[in-house]
Amino acid sequence: MRVMIWCDMEGISAITRWDQCTAGAAQYEEGRRLYTADVNAAVRGARKGGANHIVVVDGHGAGADHSFNSWIKEDLEPGAEYVFGHRWSSYVDPLRDESLDAMLFVGAHSMAGTPDGVLSHTVSSLSWHAVQINGKPAGEIAMMSAVAGSFGVPVVYVSGDRAAVREARALLGDSLMATETKIGLGRFSARCLPPCDSRKRIEMDVAEALRKRDRWPAAYVPGTSVELGVELTSPDKVADYRNKTGVEITGPRNVVSRASHYWQAWDQFWRG
Ligand SMILES: [Zn+2]
Repeated sequence: MRVMIWCDMEGISAITRWDQCTAGAAQYEEGRRLYTADVNAAVRGARKGGANHIVVVDGHGAGADHSFNSWIKEDLEPGAEYVFGHRWSSYVDPLRDESLDAMLFVGAHSMAGTPDGVLSHTVSSLSWHAVQINGKPAGEIAMMSAVAGSFGVPVVYVSGDRAAVREARALLGDSLMATETKIGLGRFSARCLPPCDSRKRIEMDVAEALRKRDRWPAAYVPGTSVELGVELTSPDKVADYRNKTGVEITGPRNVVSRASHYWQAWDQFWRG
C-alpha cells in the first residue's frame, strides 16, 4: 500500500501555544520533539497497517529556515521518506505520479474562528481571515483534502484536537478514522493526554485506518467547477494576488480563484 502523510504542528499532542510552533521561540525545541514523536507514531502505524511506500511531508510554517522543516531529523522513524522545505499543501508529485492509495493528516487544526479549536487558523493567522470553497466555509482540512481529491486520492485518517476531528468528519463522513490528541478549552488551552499515551493511540488508529479499507471515505472533490474564495485580513494584502491567471480581486480584501479542479485553483494563487 502506498500512502502520503501531510503533517502540521498545531494539532500535535500537548501543543497549545504559538511559542511551541514558532522557530526561535523559547518553547520551539519542545514543540519540535513533540511534533517529531507524533509523526513517528503515525509512520509506525502506517507500516503496521500495511503501507510499504510512505512519503511524509512537513507542512508547518515555523518561520525562516524552519518553515516546513521542524522535525528533528536524527529521531525520525525508519521506513519512510521525509520531505522538508516545500511550500504548504503544494508537494503533489507523489499524488500525481506514484499511484497512492491514501492520504493521512497528522497534527491537523480547525479553521479560523472555531471557538474550541486549539491554535485555529486558516493558512495564515496574520493575512487570511476566512476561506470558502464553492461558497462553503473551508479550513486547511478541506483545502488539503481537495488537493488530494484532485488526484483521486482519499483522506483516510486525521489526528488533531477534537475540533479538527469534528471538522474533518463533517467534511469526509463519520466513518473517517481519527485520533483526538487533545480537547480544546479555547484557542490556547487544552485538556491533553500525556504525549506517550496519545502517540500509542495514533499508532493504533493509523494501523486500523489502513487495514479497514471498506471504511475509507471517497476522495473529496468539491466539483468540476471550483471557486476558491479568500477573505484577507486587510486591503493591503490583495496586492500579492494581482495579475495572476484565473485569480480575480472581488472586493477590498477579497480574492477568488476559479478553475476546473481544486489543485489548479489553489496552484494559480502562487503563480506569476
Ligand atoms: Zn502549522
